Amino acid sequence: MNAKEELEKLGLEKMVDYIYADPEKNLPKIMDWADRFSGGKLGPARAMVRKVIEDKDSPYHTFITKHILQETNKDVTKTIAVNFFINAGLSGWQKQEAARAKYGCNIPWAILLDPTSACNYHCTGCWAAEYGNRLNLSLEEIDSIIRQGKELGVYFYIYTGGEPLVRKADLIRLCEMHPDCIFLSFTNGSLIDEKFADDMLRVKNFIPAISLEGFEKATDGRRGTGAFERVLHAMKLLRERGLVYGISSCYTKANFDSITSEEYFDMLVEQGVYFIWYFHYMPVGNDATPDLLPTKDQRIEAYRRIRKYRAEKPLFAIDFQNDGEYIGGCVAGGRRYLHINANGDVDPCVFIHYSNANIREMSLLDALRSPIFMAYHDNQPFNKNMLRPCPMLENPDMLRKMVKETGAKSTDLQSPESADHLCAKCDEYAKTWAPAAKELWENSKNGKKALNEEKAKEAAEKANAEEAAGKTGGVDETQGSRKTA
Ligand code: SF4
Repeated sequence: MNAKEELEKLGLEKMVDYIYADPEKNLPKIMDWADRFSGGKLGPARAMVRKVIEDKDSPYHTFITKHILQETNKDVTKTIAVNFFINAGLSGWQKQEAARAKYGCNIPWAILLDPTSACNYHCTGCWAAEYGNRLNLSLEEIDSIIRQGKELGVYFYIYTGGEPLVRKADLIRLCEMHPDCIFLSFTNGSLIDEKFADDMLRVKNFIPAISLEGFEKATDGRRGTGAFERVLHAMKLLRERGLVYGISSCYTKANFDSITSEEYFDMLVEQGVYFIWYFHYMPVGNDATPDLLPTKDQRIEAYRRIRKYRAEKPLFAIDFQNDGEYIGGCVAGGRRYLHINANGDVDPCVFIHYSNANIREMSLLDALRSPIFMAYHDNQPFNKNMLRPCPMLENPDMLRKMVKETGAKSTDLQSPESADHLCAKCDEYAKTWAPAAKELWENSKNGKKALNEEKAKEAAEKANAEEAAGKTGGVDETQGSRKTA
């Protein structure tokens, strides 16, 4: 019996009850059990979890034993654990693997989609307000995407936009229609009220990731007066109900210092935030300026700071552009996720708006087999250095080539931007970042490991080639001797 079957037999829900009965005593027992039945397949994540459970000084020890097991609603924890770890993780992953093998294309682990292009805010530099209410995926269309996704093993859906909570009644309805899935939504937080928080508590499978630009001045400066206060109020409502919530923050050249500061991180810990997703500014869109791209030194500092906070503070942080080493580089093009906009266009990535597929005209599987998705599939990883994962930001020639060769069209209906225009904004950045990325990568643990593996592979290939040449040489000698004779 494998780990998955054993987990399902025991029932993760029962396991959660067992942990709750006496976390300090029962968590290590569960780890022993997981060790026994996984046959070592849980890998480094298991070792990390065990360390956290056993080390009372680890910041994540209290995070798990207090924040998750005491302050979070028990039924919410159970639902998230089952939907995320079993449905989206273990069993979903197996289905995805089978589909990858069967169809010879990327199959995602998560699907990002825009329920609407509408937004209730008018942020500086954001196109959503200009789109107005024109573009929406209907409830039936989103339901169809999820049904098709589940056939392929996808149980994790992430909403972006626009402001997804403009459609909050439909989003709750989708949680009810698909209680086996986990839903996460980027949001400005302003539409989280008592009623919506109660609905979230009822369905249990919806997690908001609230966007913050930093502290009050920065957030209100971009999103309007009172935006920061509204986020604090939303977090209070969520906290009072024991719901799980995170923060999404984008670092730019202008806000870098404050948004990656220890003070900012500590404020989020105090607010009971469970995770923060850091995004690197991308100059996507005809009006987006490359002047806001973080400098080389800022990116190096982001790499250091976020790794340090992650090790020392009880807040799970992901720095998407610098964490490629943990996920094998670029995750787009369906390798781990894709993006469907409010017009139904299926983009490889939330930042890469070029496509040959629209979900209103073809199935999800056919979109995954469309030309630009296959170009992603065939070219990933785009760089051996995991600190240069992106076909746009760090390898702009790659995106130019893929868009040209596949004939993918811009899906930005407001102001279509050519791949050449977009990539030209990244050329200088990519050139400046390459040597810094080389140094960081070659001095990192995973970088050294990857380089050693590469050398070993090259040596093995060379030895094989020499052996083959030796054999060939023998034939040639024979032929030569024949000739001589
Ligand atoms: S295309 Fe670029 S931004 Fe999108 S997932 Fe890949 S590396 Fe990240």
